Amino acid sequence: MSGINIYLDIDGVLNRYGPVRKGRSGVDPADPEADEWPAYTSSGGVLVWPPEMIVRINRLIAADDVTPYWLTTWESDAAVFGEQVGLEGSADWTWLPSVGIAGDGRWQKYASIREHVEQTDPVFAVWLDDDLAHEPDARRWARRTGRVFALAPEPMEGLRPSQLTRIEELIAEAHRTGASPMGRVRPGSRPSRRPR
Ligand SMILES: [Mg+2]
Repeated sequence: MSGINIYLDIDGVLNRYGPVRKGRSGVDPADPEADEWPAYTSSGGVLVWPPEMIVRINRLIAADDVTPYWLTTWESDAAVFGEQVGLEGSADWTWLPSVGIAGDGRWQKYASIREHVEQTDPVFAVWLDDDLAHEPDARRWARRTGRVFALAPEPMEGLRPSQLTRIEELIAEAHRTGASPMGRVRPGSRPSRRPR
């Protein structure tokens, strides 16, 4: 068991669906209370992303033991997005099958990540996908592994600063301890929070 995997969706996470609030542009001052990015960049009005978020993700994935993967219906086209927004090295990232339903009837992304986590055996993994909000089986699986932090951003907003801060903290803890920062739930056992 080694390394940290980060699985990234594009739409609803890195590329927000919603419009940027009026008055928010590259020159606007940041509102520290808002949990919003201070500035956004847009390409053709279709892609909308905060440059500061990209800088912070680049910093996370610069660590030797952190490996990013695409888990997005963009599949092989994700490299185009990565280049557009400036994710370093993203042209070479592995993408996992993500479209539709897997042979076993599961959400394809869920089937792909399960298999991938089993194969690569990371100490810790982060899975960001707005559709996780509608996939309780996938969320339950992530929790039960004790090592997959699954987060569903609000798709109109995309990944928020506070959410990225939480991810940075979890990865820092994994680096410090060499172990998953999530409480491990042994198969068949109940969550440790529950009193006996
Ligand atoms: Mg999405």
